Amino acid sequence: MEDYKRDKLKEALIFLKYLGFKEVYKNIPDTSPMEDLIEEVKTCTKCELHRNRTNAVFGDGSFEADLMLIGEAPGEMEDELGTPFVGAAGRELDIILELAGIDRKEIFITNVVKCRPPGNRNPKTDEIAACNRYLKEQIKIIDPKVIILLGNVALYLVTGVMSGITKSRGQKMEYFSRIVIPSFHPAYVVRNPESRETVVKDFKEALRSIK
Ligand code: URA
Ligand code: SF4
Repeated sequence: MEDYKRDKLKEALIFLKYLGFKEVYKNIPDTSPMEDLIEEVKTCTKCELHRNRTNAVFGDGSFEADLMLIGEAPGEMEDELGTPFVGAAGRELDIILELAGIDRKEIFITNVVKCRPPGNRNPKTDEIAACNRYLKEQIKIIDPKVIILLGNVALYLVTGVMSGITKSRGQKMEYFSRIVIPSFHPAYVVRNPESRETVVKDFKEALRSIK
């Protein structure tokens, strides 16, 4: 701490003592709500997925992001490293972000469920329900202006839309007064490279919607 700040702080503490405060620090929490949530997710056993995980994957990026991406579930690499989108789908996502002019460090990336389903199966309804509070808390704390939903699972969970991503992609919706844009999952883009351009378009639209 710089000297003048320490002096100011000391001055303030002496003044508080003069006012009769004995334990000035008592009510100041030493962790933030996000740190508490990270800790909770790391040690969570609320659904079966905790049994096979190596690491719960909380999410990655800026806690002050204007743009949030929500994928489906961690895969093998993500489980190993504890970071979302670092495998094949992650490499595709990085290309999409670069083409759209988005810096990965400035956004926040997470998934509908935080632990890897065995063999990369789809997460089950009860697992999604058990994990949902974490996603809701993340959205509340980060408070992004725009959310991109990557694929069917995120689309259904956040908006309730069941008609599928092919019908809904690119259609802006509103979710608790923020903009939501569904797009194809990067793993789909890996299998269907011609769809990359469309996803880049959706990401650019998301950027424009922030301003
Ligand atoms: N697929 C996802 O949905 N999320 C990841 O983190 C990785 C792959
Ligand atoms: Fe907990 Fe979510 Fe992991 Fe299930 S998937 S154990 S609810 S963090």
